[in-house]
Amino acid sequence: MTESCLPEIAAGGSPLRLLIIEDDDVDRARVRHALAGTPFKFSATEAGSIREAREHLDGNEFDCVLLDYHVEGAIGSELLADIGALNDPHLPVVMITNHGDERLVAEDLQFGLYDYIPKEKLEADLLGNVLSNSLRRASLHREIHSQRARLQQLSLYDVLTGLPNRSLFFDRLDQALQSARRNAAAFAVLQIDLDLFKEVNDNFGHVAGDNVLVVAARRFRNVLRASDTVARLGGDEFAAILTGAETAQAALTTADKIGLAIREPIMVSGNRIQVGASIGIALFPDHATDADALVARAGRALSSAKNNSAGFAVYGAGMDTDDRPRLVASRLQKAIEQKELFVEFQPMINLTSRKVIGAEALVRWRSPEDGVVLPGSFIPMAERSSVIGPLTYAIFDLTLDQAKLWYDSAVPIPVSINLSARLLDDDQLPERVVRALESRGLPAPLLTLELTETALMSNVNQAKKILGLLSAAGVKISIDDFGAGFSAFKYLRELDVSEIKIDQSFTTDLRDGSRDNTIVRSIALLARGFGIPAIAEGIEDPMACNILRDLGCDKGQGYAIARPMPGEEFLDWLLRWELAAAPIDVIQ
Ligand code: C2E
Ligand code: MG
Ligand code: MG
Repeated sequence: MTESCLPEIAAGGSPLRLLIIEDDDVDRARVRHALAGTPFKFSATEAGSIREAREHLDGNEFDCVLLDYHVEGAIGSELLADIGALNDPHLPVVMITNHGDERLVAEDLQFGLYDYIPKEKLEADLLGNVLSNSLRRASLHREIHSQRARLQQLSLYDVLTGLPNRSLFFDRLDQALQSARRNAAAFAVLQIDLDLFKEVNDNFGHVAGDNVLVVAARRFRNVLRASDTVARLGGDEFAAILTGAETAQAALTTADKIGLAIREPIMVSGNRIQVGASIGIALFPDHATDADALVARAGRALSSAKNNSAGFAVYGAGMDTDDRPRLVASRLQKAIEQKELFVEFQPMINLTSRKVIGAEALVRWRSPEDGVVLPGSFIPMAERSSVIGPLTYAIFDLTLDQAKLWYDSAVPIPVSINLSARLLDDDQLPERVVRALESRGLPAPLLTLELTETALMSNVNQAKKILGLLSAAGVKISIDDFGAGFSAFKYLRELDVSEIKIDQSFTTDLRDGSRDNTIVRSIALLARGFGIPAIAEGIEDPMACNILRDLGCDKGQGYAIARPMPGEEFLDWLLRWELAAAPIDVIQ
């Protein structure tokens, strides 16, 4: 290996890094001489053999190669392809030819050779021109290449999240299908939709929405394997190909991980935002054998997932004609007319005095076909149709009729009714509620309306208007399932909230120092700051009552106190409860 740094002769710019491949000492000296006459500053590395040239090319950076046509009996052009492979594919190569080689070299121009100079014409001026032209062309090639790469990136990847877009997703899905067919393997396709994303955009703005998408994309990537594909199909719609998930169980395990990861709160501009994900799963080849059908079936499973509490569903044949919401709506309409709906009441107590301070009305449907159906199975579907209006007013009537009976028997038990977000769009709601109370002679403060954070957030101005009217009439407002959705504290101030119900997911693990323990304490403290009570729901363990009280919760509700019961049984239960020697105090 010989290396020589020739004197810098041109001012400005960094020296050109040249590789001279030439086995003849005299010819090499001529190249050096000609170079010295060009206006370039340069540093030249010299190779006297193909082997030496390869060693230099592998791992060193050059701006241009000057290549002898004949090196050690080999034809220099044979090295051409290797130069691109060993070094930069756009590295310009200029051939130094002997008399008579021009015609052969002309062919190499088609295969990446930039230019050539016959040895007899090798002088500074010509070499200088050839070098500067070659360098200019190389930089143009590089520019074109990077533009092309950028265009390709834009056409295949989502700009916001950097994930593959719809087009690349379907490409990868085709590849996965081919490979699975070849290897008789199975794999899963997931359609993922962010829950509450519209609310994030509506309430925190599009920048926050974008941030949530970016974080969601990152979390999806982290949960999935490198061999899986996760893509953004548009909006808050994502899809994944899990080549390693051969069974529904394996896909469900991953879906569960995705769900957990996405539910971790996201801080955006000081707001703690919590979204969720609904996930639909379809398997190749069990559910479909081509790309479109697989994605469509994962989509059907997704619709079904949105209606179940787990948040994910595997495709099933019954989902093909998913008329369920419409069907349920028309059955519910009939159920209201046939008086198949009824309400059960679950007591709430003061955790310190242990006195019963109210009852939550929970609707049930005695369906002739399915027996007693719990609200989780029909309220979400009712909410997607206009039947939610008549349904809610029917529940108001049932609940207030019962409240009236208690009121008249001198046991005025306050009642809470769950209100769907959709009802906040009904401008008649305040007037109808007030009329329902007045017609029964019930004082308005006897009624509390429970709304989830999501309901409040879905249209804040409308919520403020309607709830403002209800509060002004004396009706109380409670925030249900607090902590499970958005916890945008400013709404606590803006809306006249009378109570916070801490989501039952936080009341299961109350060990000292546990996360739930800390969260409950913080929410109770927050409620106290607003001068309103915090109520813990879902108390299943009698011991938890005291812990929750010590954490600052004023009230409690849950199976440990009583399960929801028919209104007719409530007074008997109440009597027993008050007569009982405070079972929880005994434990204490
Ligand atoms: P929610 O308002 O948070 O009601 C509490 C739910 O937790 C009730 O389920 C209740 O039976 C259950 N629960 C109470 N204590 C415990 C406990 O210790 N452990 C466990 N695991 N669960 C407990 P339910 O009756 O099935 O109601 C579910 C949800 O359906 C309600 O959640 C509410 O969001 C909705 N819902 C119920 N009734 C109505 C209604 O009349 N209208 C509307 N719009 N939604 C309703
Ligand atoms: Mg409730
Ligand atoms: Mg609740």
